[in-house]
Amino acid sequence: MRTGFFHDERCMWHGGGNYALTLPVEGLVQPMPDGFPDSPETKRRLKNLLDVTGLMGDLDLTRAPEATYEDLLRVHPESYLSRFKALSDQGGGELGPRAPFGAGGFEIAALSAGLVQGALASVLQGRHRNAYALARPPGHHCLPEMPNGFCLLANIAVAVEATFAQRLTERVAVIDWDVHHGNGTEAVFYDRDDVLTISIHQDRNYPMDSGDAEDQGAGPGDGANMNIPLPPGAGHATYLEAVERLVIPALQRFDPDCIVIACGFDAAAVDPLGRMMASADTFRQMTRMMLDVADDLCDGRLVAAHEGGYSAVYVPFCGHAVLEEMSGSLITAPDPLAKTIELRQPSAHMQAVYSHLITDLEDLFF
Ligand code: ZN
Repeated sequence: MRTGFFHDERCMWHGGGNYALTLPVEGLVQPMPDGFPDSPETKRRLKNLLDVTGLMGDLDLTRAPEATYEDLLRVHPESYLSRFKALSDQGGGELGPRAPFGAGGFEIAALSAGLVQGALASVLQGRHRNAYALARPPGHHCLPEMPNGFCLLANIAVAVEATFAQRLTERVAVIDWDVHHGNGTEAVFYDRDDVLTISIHQDRNYPMDSGDAEDQGAGPGDGANMNIPLPPGAGHATYLEAVERLVIPALQRFDPDCIVIACGFDAAAVDPLGRMMASADTFRQMTRMMLDVADDLCDGRLVAAHEGGYSAVYVPFCGHAVLEEMSGSLITAPDPLAKTIELRQPSAHMQAVYSHLITDLEDLFF
């Protein structure tokens, strides 16, 4: 069985909003062509790099249908979906902070969720040994009733609920290593014990008021939500240490049927919306660790859903590294920034500070 690569060019046609980075263009903020950070370029250049190196030939390029209204209704109330669809039909607009969309945005967002849903179902049904969904728009900030932070539908939550409804799985773990807090996925499953949600993120980046380590779930879901906030500047070694000492023990304790990665690349050292120091090799090694734990716990069932990542130059190399590991391909794309990022890693002294923080979190969680 091969690695599925779920993608659709129509996801690259999502647009809307007049932004320069995260600022609405107004007053003294000069308009900027393609200024909105969630540009199609970061994702399209990943697809192109896979084509150019030939790694795409080792993947099973697959399409999937849009998530249906019924699928979306398992997570989002009808009131939100109807407002979203109506505004999309009228040419687009905004229904939440930093979440613009253009004409047809509803259908493109449903397609993005559908790609994640297709990838998860395919792995659970044994058609692919693991799968990557190059989905756009992303999903992990979207709340049931409100789009947020470039996210219009809660892609992973929609996918998980669909596979529950199809009785393909009963326990799913979501590990979100996007640099921003996975607040939407957390919100959907906060009081549930059948979905473990873990988010490693830069403390107080976005949203600024969520992602605290003390937020560990509620009711039956108490203990099934784990936030790992890291200070700005944490790099390769800290990410691997957090996965080793916090994420893997949590996964072993939960014992999922399948692991889903909310795979953002904005913790990379050159990302304009993050202040962390990860490299392509960090994402490669975290993927390797997830593959190994998935082999131990759930017959290797692993799905990665693309989330953020705003360096059009660097995201492709990070994604390529993840897909090399997932597929086992020998085709590589050497990281042109590896040396630069390595030289910028925190000093041994700072590394020890970060290790102390991880020890504090270990005491809190276990
Ligand atoms: Zn992000």
